[in-house]
Amino acid sequence: MRFNATAEAAPAPHLRERDDIPERFKWNLTHIFSDWTEWQRAYEELETKIAAFAALQGSLGKGAEQLLAAYKSRDAIGQLSYKVWYFVGLKYDEDQRNNEINARRQQVQILFAKEAQASAWFDPELLSIPLATVQTWMRESAELAVYRFAIEDLYRQQEHVLDEKGEHLLSLSSRFASAPYDAFAALSTADVKYPTVCLSNGTEVTLTYGQYRAILATNRNQEDRAQAFAEYHKLFAATANTFASLYNGVLQRDLFYAQARGYASTLEGALHGNNIPTAVVENLIATTKAGTEPLRRYHRLRKRVLGLETYHTYDATIPLVDFDRKYAYEDGLEWLPASVHSLGPEYQEHMRSTLAGEWIDVYENPGKRSGAYSAPVYGVHPYMLLNYNDTLDAVFTLAHEMGHSMHTLLSNAHQPFVYSAYTIFIAEIPSTLSEALFLEFMLDRATDDREKIVLLQHAIDGIVATFYTQVLFADFELQAHRLVESGQPITVERLGDIYFDLLKTYHGDAMDYDEASRLTWARIPHFYSTPYYVYQYATCFASSAQLMRQLTTGAAQDRAAALDRYLTLLKSGGSDHPMTLLQRAGVDLSKPETVRAVVDQLDALVTKLEQAIASLG
Ligand SMILES: [Zn+2]
Repeated sequence: MRFNATAEAAPAPHLRERDDIPERFKWNLTHIFSDWTEWQRAYEELETKIAAFAALQGSLGKGAEQLLAAYKSRDAIGQLSYKVWYFVGLKYDEDQRNNEINARRQQVQILFAKEAQASAWFDPELLSIPLATVQTWMRESAELAVYRFAIEDLYRQQEHVLDEKGEHLLSLSSRFASAPYDAFAALSTADVKYPTVCLSNGTEVTLTYGQYRAILATNRNQEDRAQAFAEYHKLFAATANTFASLYNGVLQRDLFYAQARGYASTLEGALHGNNIPTAVVENLIATTKAGTEPLRRYHRLRKRVLGLETYHTYDATIPLVDFDRKYAYEDGLEWLPASVHSLGPEYQEHMRSTLAGEWIDVYENPGKRSGAYSAPVYGVHPYMLLNYNDTLDAVFTLAHEMGHSMHTLLSNAHQPFVYSAYTIFIAEIPSTLSEALFLEFMLDRATDDREKIVLLQHAIDGIVATFYTQVLFADFELQAHRLVESGQPITVERLGDIYFDLLKTYHGDAMDYDEASRLTWARIPHFYSTPYYVYQYATCFASSAQLMRQLTTGAAQDRAAALDRYLTLLKSGGSDHPMTLLQRAGVDLSKPETVRAVVDQLDALVTKLEQAIASLG
């Protein structure tokens, strides 16, 4: 996913019907199944396989052969699930108004829920066998040894698994664990009454989040932006205590689970699954805080270029210059493989065949899902959904999703099924690296200073949104969780202080502050839905910046070694813990220098932006 995608744009005036779009711009799903009959057959086969796996219950302790058979049976279900799910899922995204396909989609979801129930016995039954016994089996069976990492990781996590009674109690508590988020979602969307604002040109706008973002990103009148900001924040001020109380619910829940499972802190509990040391998050936060100078320089530059007397958070996304160049999809097809020149001819060749193979659904049509994604259809190939609209953002989105797809392609080709999927902790590395290489390529070929400015602002805004803002959020979450861990009360005041202090720590004298910003935390869905999650976008970004430096600077021999390590990372899928895979690739996230790579990258981009603006005169 991407954070700096354009705010809610108006739909294209003349949307082509899907049938009117040439086949070469649409994905070809017959690569998965030739038709619905074939899909139905696969669905039934999946049902049979699920039942067969359930029948293996009680057999694991008998020996290596039985354990291997169970793993193979599970793999077969997993592989077929990808095809059965994505054939329906992708078809549905072509036109989400299709109720018949939606019904089939729900049918698959129900089957998956059954599958989860029918395989719930597996982990506890395996864990009841001593690890030493399973290790002996793995020494005797090379085929079973393939599963070594998956098996040993399951035993590693067992440390915080309770006895049967305890686990049962915790599973009962999960029924209300999502209550704070559900209430947040209701309060901030379903039950909200969006205000109407009257802009300086006389138009009245209903201030949904999309419209609010659009005003901040496109409206050149500062008073309009200020009004939108003030009105939008009033929505949260009106029920501020309720938001604080819901967030307290999230914090108390996290503390409850951390204590119940015997973790030293909520952070430790959140990171244990991926075996990430807490020092990674602490280093990320400390090094970023020490590296805010280029961020401040960027905002000072913006204030000057935009000719503003005062500069606020709502002035931070408006474009520095007007520039409406179109970027045709066909040009992107030429540029993308050229932009990854430093990743070697084999990588380029893979990319060319990806672009030519009817794997991409390019243009918007009525009913099509919005946004963009890369779907890893195991056993077939990755598919990509775009809503390509000839903007700069669209061509960078293509570069981003292509990074995901190349990762999928390489990891599926080089890993056994059990390790073919990669974790979120690694996922955004190839996508952001792909964008960074594409930026270099576009900057090299740009002859117009205005285009250079637009490209640089695009890249800088990406770093601000994907890195600095996410680290600020991670810092806020950590401080809030530490309040409850030390038994302190959670109030609107305390949360507001934490958020406001962070804004000031990051932006110093480069910004003028508004009291309303004290409440910005209240509207961030991630805080309620997935605590301790967003830092992973920042660590991916830091890893990608470090890899970019290794791949594109220094002696030829060092670059070749860096490339070899990088391709090995992409080919590694989920075959080890993310920190181990990254260390092999030459990235150590517990070291300040890795995080510094982003600070240096931003510093260099701001310098280039200053130069481009100077030469514009
Ligand atoms: Zn992504």
